[in-house]
Amino acid sequence: MTFENSLSFAQQLDSQDLLHHYQNEFSFPQVNGKKVIYFTGNSLGLQPKRAKTYVDEVMNDWATLAVEGHFYAEKPWWDYHERFANPLSQLVGALPTEVTVMNTLTINLHLLMVSFYRPTSKRYKIICEEKAFPSDQYMFQSQVRFHGYEPEDAIVEIKRREGEHNIRLEDVLAKIKEVGDELALVLIGGVNYYTGQVFDMKIITEAGHQVGAYVGWDLAHAAGNIELQLHDWQVDFAVWCSYKYMNSGPGNASGCFIHEKHHANSDLPRFAGWWGHNKERRFKMEPLFDPVQGADGWQISNLPILSLAPYLASVELFAEIGMAALIAKRNTITAYLEFVLCEIDRDVKGNFEIITPTNQAERGCQLSVFLHGEGRSLFDYLMKNGVIVDWREPNVIRFAPVPMYTSYEDIYRFGQILKTGILTK
Ligand SMILES: *Cc1c(COP(=O)(O)O)cnc(C)c1O
Repeated sequence: MTFENSLSFAQQLDSQDLLHHYQNEFSFPQVNGKKVIYFTGNSLGLQPKRAKTYVDEVMNDWATLAVEGHFYAEKPWWDYHERFANPLSQLVGALPTEVTVMNTLTINLHLLMVSFYRPTSKRYKIICEEKAFPSDQYMFQSQVRFHGYEPEDAIVEIKRREGEHNIRLEDVLAKIKEVGDELALVLIGGVNYYTGQVFDMKIITEAGHQVGAYVGWDLAHAAGNIELQLHDWQVDFAVWCSYKYMNSGPGNASGCFIHEKHHANSDLPRFAGWWGHNKERRFKMEPLFDPVQGADGWQISNLPILSLAPYLASVELFAEIGMAALIAKRNTITAYLEFVLCEIDRDVKGNFEIITPTNQAERGCQLSVFLHGEGRSLFDYLMKNGVIVDWREPNVIRFAPVPMYTSYEDIYRFGQILKTGILTK
């Protein structure tokens, strides 16, 4: 498609966009009395208006039914989480029994390390990406120390080449081969939070398995953003948070995937609790743990229903739209943002560099822009003028034109604000 940086062109794209009206399903903050242009759905997704209805429902049931709500609410609480199995499994390319919701992201990483990081004196190393999200780095360090190893020895980072912004697939594969039979686990962010680079999860998972390692993925920036086929890719496990692209609300519950092939393996240790116990016999209060078959068997506590309610509202919205439609719009709107950024860079010498891969297969909806020269003042200008973006040291602004609630007109208007910001600096 040949793009134009004009209001009429943007409006024409909006008129052809089948998802355009979904903007009305969300609440937008306001700046200077106007709805903002929101580019930080990769950090905290906007609130779907229907989330409030779902939360109110639980509040009402609690008020009117109290303990009876566990079994007699319209959506009973005791198996409330099972409502996620179908829609959520479709979002991540899994069987319904392979997904569950529980806890929060880093907690779930730790819990799944119990099952999938089983170091031995020979095989104890973990491969991750250089500059992984800090929480993941702390998790790795504490895990290897917990098992009696030194992070400098046990954690192997895949580095970017000198002068490059992204990690090459060939370097990931070479590192997996090199570590070989010392490799216990590969655990990488499916989409890098800083650059927006998407890793080839299928190929990397295969390579990890070839040397006898488990392969897991942190999908914080992938779930609800890119196409996932976790089951077919033979991924061992994956986790994601739900408050980024999945719009479930601040700090909200995490999702997990555990491949079917591990469900019946009683050699895999796990930390257990009553909510993972055989569903039919859960309330018999038996002394011995008998796990539910499937990812639900990794649950520990009874679930925070007030947290699950907005997450369910959002997951149902995703199911209604479907990932295929979202991805189709994502590709166009991200390319349009890229086009507008390049036009303005050319027109007014913005002096910025997009460090996210240009290849569509290697990115989702985030574009990370490195500002050569003065960056922070431009960021401040954007924020003051109703464009919500996020700043990462040393000089990067991340833009996520989330397809579910961003319009092409938003992109055009953003471009005009950016241009004025550069010219008046
Ligand atoms: C956002 C994010 C987290 C956040 O972890 P919480 O446990 O939800 O606070 C962790 N890892 C990655 C890669 C992230 O992008």
